[in-house]
Amino acid sequence: MSPTESPSRASTPGSTPLLEVRGLAKSFGDHEVLRSIDFTLDTGKVLVLIGPSGSGKTTVLRSLNGLEQPDAGTVSVAGGEVAIDFAGPVSAATRLALRDRSAMVFQHYNLFPHLTVLQNVTEGPIVVQKRARADAEAEAMALLERVGLADKRDAFPFELSGGQQQRVGIVRAVALRPQLLLFDEPTSSLDPELVGEVLTVMKELAEEGWTMVVVTHELVFAREVADEVLFLDGGVIVERGAPERLFTAPTQERTKQFLNRLL
Ligand code: ADP
Repeated sequence: MSPTESPSRASTPGSTPLLEVRGLAKSFGDHEVLRSIDFTLDTGKVLVLIGPSGSGKTTVLRSLNGLEQPDAGTVSVAGGEVAIDFAGPVSAATRLALRDRSAMVFQHYNLFPHLTVLQNVTEGPIVVQKRARADAEAEAMALLERVGLADKRDAFPFELSGGQQQRVGIVRAVALRPQLLLFDEPTSSLDPELVGEVLTVMKELAEEGWTMVVVTHELVFAREVADEVLFLDGGVIVERGAPERLFTAPTQERTKQFLNRLL
């Protein structure tokens, strides 16, 4: 399903970014994990976050999904349809409104172990979004078919490979019809031979026009799929740019060192 097929999730018209993040800051105790993170993301674009472990990438994603509450900064979705200033009190309703706009794909899949594949995918649409079971199941099956897992509909997560589990994780996120797909190192728990099947699905979603924020160490994927790459270190964006430029001609010493270690 392409993002625009969803009736309540039409693209944002004009030049308003789908996502606008300004001055995001977060500390855990006296550890400043994010310091003034700024970026925008247009509808249908893919933003990739790279950086060393502990640089704050996951905290950025979790802040976008309402799983983490930043100390300061603003997040605006769809030209202010959801607008949050974290410097002030944020109501539970506002946090839920933010969460409703995005869906997260986790490093460790986070499937419900006691539910079948089909139940994992339809749980959110049926229980949270109150969609009709028949519709939710039909859409889930169509999505599972697309990632080659229709025959696993009644399997439990423990019966699947990591790559299959993560493809279910992606289908589960897409089935929520979010405006924004968030990926938190989706392939870093996988055996190397299973990484490709997950990246292929992600690439197809990008080509279909999904708006995506991806935390990954897969630089080849980033280079092919990202519209923009942010390099984070120590909770700040050290460098940003188109992947072609950032990977071939980084301007910052820290970026060069990081890339040299990975390439
Ligand atoms: P990355 O995704 O780049 O590896 P994270 O956003 O996961 O980085 O973490 C950034 C820093 O914040 C790390 O030093 C991490 O230990 C710390 N951190 C993350 N979550 C918590 C938490 N709930 N409590 C305390 N420290 C945390």
